[in-house]
Amino acid sequence: MKALETRVYKYKNKSNVFFCPLCRTERGISISPKLSKRNYLQILLTSIVFGSALFPFMGVKCFFIFFIVWAGFELAVRTDYKKQVACPHCGFDATWYKRDVKVTRQLVKEFWAQKQTVAVPKTQPTAKQV
Ligand SMILES: [Zn+2]
Repeated sequence: MKALETRVYKYKNKSNVFFCPLCRTERGISISPKLSKRNYLQILLTSIVFGSALFPFMGVKCFFIFFIVWAGFELAVRTDYKKQVACPHCGFDATWYKRDVKVTRQLVKEFWAQKQTVAVPKTQPTAKQV
């Protein structure tokens, strides 16, 4: 007797898998809005590089560069996450949906408007009907 093979496919690099509530496409988000250990290491290294470069000019004050770099990373990770959350197929943004449904609708509307202008680049509004 062979055991039934039950392979459950797992998204190894995706922390969050869900279906788009609007167009039902399977979606996956690979990064979290939080900084990873690797990010902290990068922050540390970047601030050491910048800090040592600025040390002759700023002295001990160059220590503050660490917080600036940190803030920059935090912002970058969050904007990256937000970009992933918005559905590439229909423009549905789950983060906005939780806060404001009207804004979500507007975003989807804008997404489709943009998609249409891309799909139809040449419209002839100048053609006059005489
Ligand atoms: Zn969608």
